[in-house]
Amino acid sequence: MSEYLFPPPPPAALPVSGQDARFPVNRIFCVGRNYAAHAAEMGAEVDREAPFYFLKSPHAVRQSGAILPYPPGTRDLHHEIELVVAIGAPAFRIGPAQAMAAVWGYGSGLDMTRRDLQVRAKEKRQPWDLGKNFEGAAVISALTPARDFTPGAQHIRLQVNGSLRQEGGIGDMVWPIPELIVDLSQYYHLAPGDLIMTGTPAGVGAVAEGDRLVGEIEGLAAVELTIGPAE
Ligand code: MN
Repeated sequence: MSEYLFPPPPPAALPVSGQDARFPVNRIFCVGRNYAAHAAEMGAEVDREAPFYFLKSPHAVRQSGAILPYPPGTRDLHHEIELVVAIGAPAFRIGPAQAMAAVWGYGSGLDMTRRDLQVRAKEKRQPWDLGKNFEGAAVISALTPARDFTPGAQHIRLQVNGSLRQEGGIGDMVWPIPELIVDLSQYYHLAPGDLIMTGTPAGVGAVAEGDRLVGEIEGLAAVELTIGPAE
């Protein structure tokens, strides 16, 4: 029998292409300014000394196909299409040669952002949580096992209501996947279930109620999201 005071929340989990078992989500690490063109459109510069991160709670996860009510507290909800790396093995203080062995698979993800709250936080030198970490802020496709996808120069793009908004190549990341895993492993005991959202290419922008988003990375399942009415 459970000794909990009340039922714990069910774990967040993502479907996997081609099999019934789901991928349980642990932590969600997100990389900031990992494409130079996006850093420029945000009026920022890429930090070439080290990547930087923020986190989203597993409560932020929604599956592709979700309807996300327009979130509270914002008037400027933005889309960011990103390659998601799913960790499947422990990694702590590893080197580049071990990095890719920690990868279980890949997905397409949307780092949904309350941009007005993020901008306000930046101006006040406060943390980004209100802008980045909210319910429904991490919309992710079914995952593809690493044996079926080798990251290279694949095309990444996002359409809103059928028109192209974001476009790039995952080969344009300032910090490629192995370097991100090596770096994170210096600070965290990476564990199966951890996700890394690897940053967004240029073209981020606002969405509105009724908008339909389709994010695609060549070789992976698409991520789809509809923006619903505010609650
Ligand atoms: Mn992002």
